[in-house]
Amino acid sequence: MIRFGPAGLGGAKEAVHSLEEYHKKGISACEIAFTYGVYLKEEDAVEIGKAAKSLGIKLSIHAPYWINLNSAERRKVEESRKRILDCCKIGSLLGAYLVVFHPGYYGKMGKEETYQNIKREIINIVKEIKKRGWKINIAAETTGKVNVFGSVDEILRLVNETGCSFCIDILEKFKSHGDIHIHFSGIEYGEKGEKRHIITPESEIKELLKNLQKNVSKSKEITIINESPNPLGDSIKAIRIFKKI
Ligand SMILES: [Zn+2]
Repeated sequence: MIRFGPAGLGGAKEAVHSLEEYHKKGISACEIAFTYGVYLKEEDAVEIGKAAKSLGIKLSIHAPYWINLNSAERRKVEESRKRILDCCKIGSLLGAYLVVFHPGYYGKMGKEETYQNIKREIINIVKEIKKRGWKINIAAETTGKVNVFGSVDEILRLVNETGCSFCIDILEKFKSHGDIHIHFSGIEYGEKGEKRHIITPESEIKELLKNLQKNVSKSKEITIINESPNPLGDSIKAIRIFKKI
């Protein structure tokens, strides 16, 4: 099954209404963006979670951008860890299944040292989630930026060695690994890789869907979150294209 949905749900007050509107349009996934912090209160999370469940909308979370599990400063690593765990806590109240996060930066460290530091922190976070009994996993996101940790191979290695999940924009190497969570947008590339998100071209949606149909077994659940400047409109566009192919 393939679920489509936008990145972003909006404020707590209109969230339930937005989910109802999404449902009417065929949306069955939504990623709540805690980009600048966890903005939902616990009681709101419970209510939104109930609504999403009854509407058949699968929720995920995007953790704040200020995360670096490889900072040379211990305090910054602790803060990053706390931000991820705060997302997991509210996420478990929402009934969300995944917290997507950007693991960190190389800084002045080498690639292997960076990998080992990030791996250690992720193992600790996964342990903490289990200890608290939260039914949620964290998903390290691949990056299209060359100077940022998170190449496809680095993320794949983390998935294999820590039990964390993944969020990808490239499918090939991950297809044997459980359910699949994809971020999707139109992307403009510059010299250093990904430059900015643009409206998703129809041709790219078609290409992604054909690729999924060809490569991923039907028994898997695939969640496609659109992160373009018009995530709802592009999700609806993707649903329309999906029905045709
Ligand atoms: Zn992201």
